[in-house]
Order: sequence, then C-alpha cells, then structure tokens
Amino acid sequence: MAKQADLLSVEDARARILAHFFRLETELVPLDEALGRVLAESVTSTLDIPPFANSSMDGFALQSSSTTQAAPGSPVSLDVVDNIPAGSFSSRELRPGESARIMTGAPLPPGADAVVPFEDVDDLGSEIHLSIAVSEGFSVRPAGQDITSGIQVLSSGVALDSRRVALLAAIGVGVVPVVRRPRIAILSTGDELVSPGTPLQPGQIYNSNTSMLVGAVSEAGALPVVLPTVRDDVREIVDSIHAAAGADLLLTTGGASVGDYDHMKDVIGHQGELNFWRVRVRPGKPLLFGSVGSLPVIGLPGNPTSGMVTFEQFARPAIRRMLGAGLYRPTIHVRLDERIENLGGRRTYARAQLRYEAGEFHATLSGSQDSAMLMPLAMADCLLIVPEDREELRAGEIAIAQVWRLPQSPEEA
Ligand code: AMP
Ligand code: MG
Repeated sequence: MAKQADLLSVEDARARILAHFFRLETELVPLDEALGRVLAESVTSTLDIPPFANSSMDGFALQSSSTTQAAPGSPVSLDVVDNIPAGSFSSRELRPGESARIMTGAPLPPGADAVVPFEDVDDLGSEIHLSIAVSEGFSVRPAGQDITSGIQVLSSGVALDSRRVALLAAIGVGVVPVVRRPRIAILSTGDELVSPGTPLQPGQIYNSNTSMLVGAVSEAGALPVVLPTVRDDVREIVDSIHAAAGADLLLTTGGASVGDYDHMKDVIGHQGELNFWRVRVRPGKPLLFGSVGSLPVIGLPGNPTSGMVTFEQFARPAIRRMLGAGLYRPTIHVRLDERIENLGGRRTYARAQLRYEAGEFHATLSGSQDSAMLMPLAMADCLLIVPEDREELRAGEIAIAQVWRLPQSPEEA
C-alpha cells in the first residue's frame, strides 16, 4: 500500500491531466443559440452605439441658444415645425426660434443640440413656451455614448450570459464565433446499478452518478454523451470504452479502487496507457487518468461524493481548458463555524454550507463527510479546502471555499 506521501499531489495530478487538453475549434452559431457558449474570439464593435445622437426624453428638440432668455414670468416662445417619432429620421434643419416634437430614441434633427421634456413646457400645439433655459446637450444621448466604434466589447474566453448576448445584439452581431462544446462521454460501471424509474431488486441501488455527471458536464459548458451503464465485466467495459471513441474525454465512474471487481485501472492499462492512479486527495483517492487511443479517460471513483469532488478538481478544469474558458470556480474566504479534522496528510475538500453574516461568509459542514453519502453533497454550497499539511482547521479560522452557489438573500438588500 502506497504511503500518502508517495501519492501524487492534487496539483501534480491536475497538471498531468491538463497537459493533454487544448482549446477546441471555433464554430459559428446564430446569436439566439449563443447563450452559455464560450466566445472564441474577442469582439470589437464596428458601430457607435447609439449610432446617432438621439433624445433621452419625450419632448421638444431645440437649439439651446434659443432659450437663454427664458425665465419664470418671461417665457420664450418657440415654433413647433416638425414631429420626429423613434425610428424616423428628419433632415429638416432647426433654426433659432424653432423646435420639433421628438420621442425618446428618435434622432436629433440637424441644428438641434438639446431636448426639453414635455413636462417642462407649456404646449400650445403649434408653439411651446419655456420658462427656464435649456443647457446644450440636455436630454441628448450623443452618438457613441455607450460603445465607440473600434473598441473591444467582449474578450475571447468569456461565457455568454444574457447581458453579454444583449451586447452582441446591440452591435449587430448575428453570428457568433464560439468554441465547440467538448463531447464528454459518461460511463457508469457497477453490477449493482439500475436506472432511476425502474424497480429495485435486492442488492441493487439507483445509478446517481450518471445523472450527476450529465449535470456537471452541462454546467461546465460541455455536451454529455451518456453510454449505457455496464456491469463490472472487463469485456463490457472494454467494448463501451471503444464505443466512446470520438469523444473529447471519457469519464467513467466506479471500479477504480482495489475491490475484486474494480477493473478500470487494468482495463485502461491493457487497452491504452495508464498515466496515474491515486491522488493525495479526500475524498477521491482512487482517481485514475489515462488514455485509450486518442481518447483521454478520467476514471472517477464510484462513491458519489468522491466522484463529484474529483470531477470538480480534475475533470472540470480539463473541460474548461477545451473551452478556452477560466479553469476554476470562484473562491472566497470564509470563517469556519466548526473545527474540521484532516488526519492522514491528504488534501481534503469538505462539503459545507455558506451563510453571510455581519460582512463575512461563514461555513458550516453540510453533514457527515462520509464520501458515500449524497445528502451532504446535495446540501453543500461549497467545498472547503483543507491543506494536506494541516491536521485540523480550527473553528473561527478563515478558510478558502470553492463556491457552487451563494446563499439566497432572504430579502432584497
Ligand atoms: P466502486 O468505485 O465501484 O467500488 O464503488 C464505490 C461505491 O460507490 C459503491 O458503494 C457503489 O455502489 C457506489 N457507486 C458506484 N457507482 C455508482 C453510481 N453510478 N451511482 C451511485 N453509486 C455508485
Ligand atoms: Mg463497483
């Protein structure tokens, strides 16, 4: 049995994996399919936004110099010579003493340099009276106020959310260069597994890892490709691995440890190349990495929590590298509500819940840290990192958390 100190560190194992992954090709998708995709190129605006000076109010466009004499008790009178709704364009040049009815978003007519809102004038139909002077530029949005032609609006590698999609739409981008989604084959192995929705026979359990990994792969921005679950049978496993050829990565779960029916390590070793097996991590020590032909294979342990933690630390960064996106989740500093023990010299990722109080985040373990248990994993908001050289983190200490979700605010701040 290898001593803990002989095991590969998390950093070394991750580096060995990442060395096999590169950003995938660029593909073009219509803007309305770009949500959630990763931008493959930086995007520069070829337009000023807004493209023309326009009114920010419903009111009257005018020359500010026509209004300098306006004062309460001695109003200035302007003729109304035009009517400009949004979407139209007036080439009628305004002269001193003239105004044009104009709606929000409509282009300022030539000669105008300000807009007085409806509520600030006496509207007599063919003329308006103003009792206060209007300054140059008032209620006007200049061309390029938001975005200037030639500036970069989004950089390569960002994930497109609704706000960024709106930005692309605003500058007229109809087709977006994004990174191809990596195809991640998912194979759960185990004689005991049955699919949710079918009756359980004695000795059987429901396969939760496949659903978990489909979700995790999708959330990471990749495409899950589910392979039929196989039994702990070398022939079945081998056939299934070969059926995964063409994927960008194969994730397996189960059969990675030292049990009599744990075949994964030998199968990868015989069919391809085993790069490493076992990492100085808890949970998830039996993690393995290798390849079969050109297909990289990450063998995740079967225990659900071990599978999830190792997916996060090793598989997700590989997926994110293929996407050309940021590799890691956001981390925050949290104050520990309780002591966390870490005997055995492994890097521990403890499952915990977050609470925000008096200006800082607090973390409480989300339940038992038994890696076979799913409830504490599903309850967890984050993974707390416990360094391998710390036998405990004390209550009240500050630790680093990898964040899955932040706590909901009970009310609007
Ligand atoms: P193994 O890595 O095959 O030794 O499995 C470790 C533990 O995880 C065992 O208790 C298995 O029953 C359980 N397990 C393995 N695969 C799955 C799965 N797909 N869904 C839920 N539990 C699993
Ligand atoms: Mg098994």
